[in-house]
Amino acid sequence: MIELKSITKSYYKGTSAQIVALRNVSLKIDDGEMLAIIGTSGSGKTTLLNILGCLDLPDSGEYLLDGDLVNKLSKNRLCQIRNERIGFVLQDFGLMLDRSIYKNLSYPMIFNSSIKSNEIKERSKRALEAVGLSSRVNSRCVELSGGQKQRVAIARAIVNEPSMILADEPTGALDTKTSAEIMELFKTLNKQGSTVIIVTHDPKVAEQCDRVIEISDGEIVA
Ligand code: ADP
Ligand code: MG
Repeated sequence: MIELKSITKSYYKGTSAQIVALRNVSLKIDDGEMLAIIGTSGSGKTTLLNILGCLDLPDSGEYLLDGDLVNKLSKNRLCQIRNERIGFVLQDFGLMLDRSIYKNLSYPMIFNSSIKSNEIKERSKRALEAVGLSSRVNSRCVELSGGQKQRVAIARAIVNEPSMILADEPTGALDTKTSAEIMELFKTLNKQGSTVIIVTHDPKVAEQCDRVIEISDGEIVA
């Protein structure tokens, strides 16, 4: 369960100009929800997702994640939470393109102390089965289509069996048909119990989620 209470976040350009990216954002997200965050470019969607994913901390306000006050956790604990509980999927995939699918999947597990080295192969296999790419485990990512790359990115996000999947414009670089396939995959993961939070400006993506919140100029407006 996620609870944001009056979160504020600003960026500073040099010493003077201040950009307020989030203003007084309060939001509750239940376990197992499938939520879309929509809003125009620059409205604060990525900033919000980065805070939800413990990649960034708010300037003020509170973030409670499964009862832990995230603002107060040590850097090490935050790393551990990111690695074990959160899976990220990004618009431009964020893969090591010159490496094999297997290398891309095994990498996050090396940093997860709860996964024994002999489990890495088995987990990679399961994640690739889930995204329908079992036959390509040794392919280099550069050889894959956009949709296949996004499948690998999703497989990498789920190898650690996170409770929450965060996706920033995951269909932004994909054609309509491939987007629909990727959305089916997110829906399946959600049905299997993961909380799924998708940032998008595609209404077709948003309408497939259980709940849609709109952010405008750093504030939740709907
Ligand atoms: P969105 O994802 O909705 O396009 P962002 O959260 O990326 O919006 O950005 C919100 C605002 O914060 C924008 O005005 C953007 O220019 C600014 N911003 C985002 N990241 C930075 C940064 N690292 N440094 C300075 N300004 C930033
Ligand atoms: Mg963004």
